[in-house]
Amino acid sequence: MIYLQNCTYINSETLEFCNTDILIEEGLQGNIHFYHQKPADLQLNEIIDCKGKLVTHSFANGHHHIYSALARGMCAPKKSPANFYEVLQYIWWTLDKCLDKDMIKASALATAIACAKNGVSFVIDHHASPMAIENSLQIIASAFDEVGVSHLLCYEITDRDGLDKAAQGLDETETYLKSHQGLVGLHASFTVGDDTIKKAVGLTEKYHSGIHIHIAEDGYDQQHCIDNYGCRVIDRMQKHGLLHFGKNILGHCLFLSESEKKMIANSPSWVVQNMESNLNNRVGYFDGKDMGDRIMLGTDGMHSDMLQSARSVFLAGKDHEMMGPQAVYQRFRKAHQYIHQHNFKGDAANNLVVLDYDSPTEINASNFTGHFVYGLTSKHVQHVISNGKLIVKDGIVTTVNETEVLEFCREMGNKLWVEMLK
Ligand SMILES: [Zn+2]
Repeated sequence: MIYLQNCTYINSETLEFCNTDILIEEGLQGNIHFYHQKPADLQLNEIIDCKGKLVTHSFANGHHHIYSALARGMCAPKKSPANFYEVLQYIWWTLDKCLDKDMIKASALATAIACAKNGVSFVIDHHASPMAIENSLQIIASAFDEVGVSHLLCYEITDRDGLDKAAQGLDETETYLKSHQGLVGLHASFTVGDDTIKKAVGLTEKYHSGIHIHIAEDGYDQQHCIDNYGCRVIDRMQKHGLLHFGKNILGHCLFLSESEKKMIANSPSWVVQNMESNLNNRVGYFDGKDMGDRIMLGTDGMHSDMLQSARSVFLAGKDHEMMGPQAVYQRFRKAHQYIHQHNFKGDAANNLVVLDYDSPTEINASNFTGHFVYGLTSKHVQHVISNGKLIVKDGIVTTVNETEVLEFCREMGNKLWVEMLK
């Protein structure tokens, strides 16, 4: 067990501050216990002095893509994308088709390390590797487990590479769901036919899971749906009986009519906002008004820093949603509610981050969210405890050799970039 001494503990829900020692149980459903003085008879693995440090629940990412981890710094695509569809065609669908099993492993390790160092101990990922589908989710799960970051994975089922690949995606999903917590991933309305959606809904029912899908990330998704199915995207999902799963995660939700937003609000589905990815793809701004309050935040593979994501939501969203720091903080923390509501494992009380936050001004319960949007950054993350295990100590990952892993990642990155030029 780990013992944190002299902490300033912040309850992540009530934002109450208290000065305390914390005893942390190890394990998936482990608890924490507060003490004013270290009990004499405890068997402890590690005692950390947290004097002057803030300790709070660690962070969660509601929508990530490990497959993009090796994209950083790669050369420009063969054709400069003119719109969202071409961004997929010339960048992401070119990249994911080149991923082999070693590259998937490297991408997952790099992502898990980056998450851990940013204080993120739970990741919801949506994966695609059309030429290496089989066992891809297990490779990612093993890499995350090695680093010590909890996960909720899915494979992106799609018809974009043919029905044979869609069938492989369904098979990989079923194999994984037999022995892991996970979701049923669909790419987006514009790349999945009715038959594939029906099969995905069938799998979701069979395994009491939820669908993780991109919804109306660009106007193209809506136009394609109207042209091919004579209805809008959310209507199509509703017709397939897809909306009523409480574990659903609908990514983006940018180009929705008022009635579609209401349908989401009236369903038990969750929405995930990915502000920086939307800015990067120039697809517009998320507006959660009328979509209910089951809205969480993700990074969409842009990076693994949820504090940065939250700050972007606050700054870029000022014009669109006029959300104050308090509302942004609540959205930042919504992912935990999603995880707990559905009894997913890996985000119990024994997931903590220790922040070395050297503020020049006082921080307390009443001004915490102001510090959250203007002051706190991932550079303040000093230690991370995941499922009661110290996975980051003084900014360094303790569970894997970062230098060796990053060397392997760079080797795999070079290999990937060569493949992409072929
Ligand atoms: Zn995405």
